[in-house]
Amino acid sequence: MDHASTTPMADEVVEAMHTCFTQTYGNASSLHSIGREAKTVLEESRARVAELIGAEVDEVYFTSGGTESDNMAVKGVAMRNRDRGRHIITTAIEHPAILEPCRYLESRGFEVTCLPVTREGIVRIEDLESAIRKDTILISMMHANNEIGTIQPVAEAGKIARDRDIPFHTDAVQTVGKIPADVNDLNVDLLSISSHKLYGPKGVGAIYIRKSTEIEPITQGGGHEQGLRSGTENVPGIVGLAKAAELAQAEMPKEMVRLTAMRDRLAKTVLEEVEDAWINGHPMKRLPNNLNLGFLHVEGEALMLHLDARGIAASTGSACSSRKTMASHVLTAIGLKPEEAHGSLRITLGRDNTTEDTERAAEVIRESAEKLRAISPFRR
Ligand SMILES: *Cc1c(COP(=O)(O)O)cnc(C)c1O
Repeated sequence: MDHASTTPMADEVVEAMHTCFTQTYGNASSLHSIGREAKTVLEESRARVAELIGAEVDEVYFTSGGTESDNMAVKGVAMRNRDRGRHIITTAIEHPAILEPCRYLESRGFEVTCLPVTREGIVRIEDLESAIRKDTILISMMHANNEIGTIQPVAEAGKIARDRDIPFHTDAVQTVGKIPADVNDLNVDLLSISSHKLYGPKGVGAIYIRKSTEIEPITQGGGHEQGLRSGTENVPGIVGLAKAAELAQAEMPKEMVRLTAMRDRLAKTVLEEVEDAWINGHPMKRLPNNLNLGFLHVEGEALMLHLDARGIAASTGSACSSRKTMASHVLTAIGLKPEEAHGSLRITLGRDNTTEDTERAAEVIRESAEKLRAISPFRR
């Protein structure tokens, strides 16, 4: 129940990769037939990924994952447009793969505005509009948040960016393959994908870059991927990503309904049976598989470990180090007090979860929360 961290690969994905490792193992840049075969599967895979997001084939570039795609978008667009301006807009709840490159650029003379979010974890469009300046050269707003699952008004934000001629990027790592994420519906110029979040292999990803977007490479070398991302393509990984994309696209409508129902039932049971518990994030504008719960006077990390001991993998928004608990920047951004952020538990359901799993999880969460509260020094 920690599918926002990573996902297991389907047998079909492993099989497709195996064929690639053993048969189409060539270097896609080689001109002999082994190389040309690798080039063919590489381009077929590109078409597959493009189809999932409604892109043109030559607007998809393969990378080593979500982190690299995010770095390419932020640094590549900023560096290319630095003579036009040095102002970047992003949000307070982005993944570190966006926030850290922004921080790096700040140390190199750029200015970054981090938009706040509401209590429910959504960016206000008015805030974006008033943050835009004459020297704004990039806006990056994630499609859905990895901790609290909130879905951001990306299409609206993209329209505003386009009207003002500002390149617009979205980190869609948590949405591609899970909910519709079409680059034209979303009005984006750049979009990041990670394979291992959609039941593909780790260490591979992609970035969509709309034609005519001004960007420069952050990696120099042999000029692969239209000169934007040098380095011999990870063809087996890319083939795995493409197979995962195909499976995700086929099952998405059914899986969205199934996961939403399971998620809502789990939430209802926990909120009925555990007192002083609540849901972090927006009740509706959230990923079908994401449930982020808050419990007063329960240490999230302890709860997570209790669940782990009973065979349930979940995640928490707080990390405890030598009695000082660090709340996540996302839970802080939605305005939780430290004692509220302490007791957070993130459940992210996936393909391999069943209703029996969620029923058992509800039971274990209730028991563990009671045990932990009984020993809490804050509970009187
Ligand atoms: C996981 C994740 C990333 C990083 O992707 P990797 O492929 O693991 O580098 C970036 N953004 C979001 C929202 C994520 O959830």
